[in-house]
Amino acid sequence: MMPGRASIVPCPACGARARVPTLLSGNSGGTVFWSDCKVVRPMMPRPPWVVRCSTCVHVYWLDDVWRTEHEIDRHTMTRAAVNALPEVEEATDADIFRTIEATGASMDAERQRHLRTVAWWYANDASRPDEDGRVPVRPVPDAACLADRARNLEALLASMQGDPEWRLNRCEILRQQGHFEAALRELDQEDNPDLAWVVDQQRALCAARDAAVRPLKRG
Ligand SMILES: [Zn+2]
Repeated sequence: MMPGRASIVPCPACGARARVPTLLSGNSGGTVFWSDCKVVRPMMPRPPWVVRCSTCVHVYWLDDVWRTEHEIDRHTMTRAAVNALPEVEEATDADIFRTIEATGASMDAERQRHLRTVAWWYANDASRPDEDGRVPVRPVPDAACLADRARNLEALLASMQGDPEWRLNRCEILRQQGHFEAALRELDQEDNPDLAWVVDQQRALCAARDAAVRPLKRG
């Protein structure tokens, strides 16, 4: 894994600059496919999708800054000035909920679905077992946080209704909610042979009445 030159991004709201570590090269060794469709490549870590400005707490999608070519030309800064910048701070699921609530109905539906998916993954991160199958002990979220997460899953499920592309995500949400029969009905409709390895393992988890996020073995 070879680190590359940092990318420098301005906050879209206040302009405060932050440093994003990048990779020159990596590999797919140790890749883990999770049941919530998150893929983790330890030897090729990617920058966070959603970040929070450490100056004004604005929450933004990092790819938006890159896509709109607002990245700062590092040649306009000294190495010391680049090194002095704070590293981008990954947002939390609470940051994402706050942003969706503040933006409301004006947010593009697809963007909102992606944000809610990332928030779901962040919530699941706390319960992902390590290589030895152990789940790290973390503080139990308070009731308000759990209620926000439950609402997020309901909204996410509603936004995915009827779309085959999101079938396995729907299945996973239903399974995590304990709706095992409904999750199995989603699996019954999945006929893509390339996804049979996911379907088989999801079926086994449903049969075991297991509602936890789990690593899947790639078939
Ligand atoms: Zn800012």
